[in-house]
Amino acid sequence: MKRTVSDEMFEAARRVIPGGVNSPVRACRSVGCDPLFIKRGLGAVLTDVDDNEYIDFVCSWGPMILGHAHPSVIAAIQAAAVDGTSFGAPTPTEVDLASLVVEAVPSIEKVRFVNSGTEATMSAVRLARGYTGRNIVVKFDGCYHGHADSFLVKAGSGLLTLGIPGSPGVPEDIVKNTLSIPYNNLEILEDTLRQKAAEIACVIVEPVAGNMGCVPPAPGFLEGIRRLTKELNILLIFDEVITGFRVAYGGAQERFGITPDLTCLGKIIGGGLPVGAYGGKAEIMDCVAPDGPVYQAGTLSGNPLAMAAGIAMLKELQRPGVYTELERKSARFEEMLNGISRATGVPTQLNRVGSVMTVFFTPDPVSDFESAMRSDTERYGQHYRQMLSTGIYLAPSQFEAAFVSMAHSEKDLDTAAKMTEWSFKKLLEK
Ligand SMILES: *Cc1c(COP(=O)(O)O)cnc(C)c1O
Repeated sequence: MKRTVSDEMFEAARRVIPGGVNSPVRACRSVGCDPLFIKRGLGAVLTDVDDNEYIDFVCSWGPMILGHAHPSVIAAIQAAAVDGTSFGAPTPTEVDLASLVVEAVPSIEKVRFVNSGTEATMSAVRLARGYTGRNIVVKFDGCYHGHADSFLVKAGSGLLTLGIPGSPGVPEDIVKNTLSIPYNNLEILEDTLRQKAAEIACVIVEPVAGNMGCVPPAPGFLEGIRRLTKELNILLIFDEVITGFRVAYGGAQERFGITPDLTCLGKIIGGGLPVGAYGGKAEIMDCVAPDGPVYQAGTLSGNPLAMAAGIAMLKELQRPGVYTELERKSARFEEMLNGISRATGVPTQLNRVGSVMTVFFTPDPVSDFESAMRSDTERYGQHYRQMLSTGIYLAPSQFEAAFVSMAHSEKDLDTAAKMTEWSFKKLLEK
């Protein structure tokens, strides 16, 4: 095959960057190809360094809910940049974005900005431990909460894709305080919490799991977690790094009507710039330094460019009809894809919540880590490569979500469906 500019760049990258990438799943190993280098994104379309165009369903792993290079977001970043890019002192934009977040998310009374989702979850757990004086964190198998040490236990896509259960470099002493239990199983949760209640600081959950592919909460699951944690005085942390401003403006907690104690945000909140946030009840947030003893800081936290991008993003998302349109387009896309699965006889399970979805290559329902793992990843790899060859850019792993954005036109979705039909037929050829 002809060597592409992407191939050359990847070779150069591997000389100076481990694996040639700054985040492992980008290397595309589990789908058996090398990554494309992207030079431009506009709306729903990515252009690679070889000038190939793709309809993008990765959307930077979630943030680009308005599509790439949205004019309002770009204008806000440009306007902010000419006034200087960082001061390490308070700026008005931080108050503006914090106010928008507090208005948007029902359970957040105060919020602290950080630079990534990882920092948000790491800080929220430190706060939960500091506030309760307890050490144990309960999480769910297949949920990913960033790459901080205490979360690297059965932690979803990146690790799944590489086939490593945890990670060297994470001391036993740290993960012994992390209990990972099956998603969507209230019985095991109840047993675990009742046994160790006095030592458990918090339960952290993706209210819609997105990092083992999209796995919605079973009816009653989130309610059950809330009921048990409240009864046993354990803090409940919703990791809404994907779901925040995605499955509803106020996140999964708005969509499902559950009030967590702390919430982690990331991805969409930065408008494509590096922003994370954690927030919750004022009484708990006031334990963070300088008001309280739990230390957490950041040189670039609340960065004026990032805040400006976040504000522009949230204001666009406040426009009437945004979430109805996302729901309608995504539901129609789901219907088309399910129709193709039935017509071609390629067995799939499509899980969707709003504009987050995953097509699992398995005939059986996917409700947790174990059932997700029954997917045919070889088949996904072939489908991925076939779709890429026709200009459809999917996540390079079975255990990731596809995102529909405001920039995807009905025509884009029709094109993607047509290519899916072609690809599914090809999967059955031998
Ligand atoms: C992406 C993600 C994170 C980590 O965010 P980064 O910005 O990549 O550090 C944490 N939790 C969830 C649910 C995520 O999807």
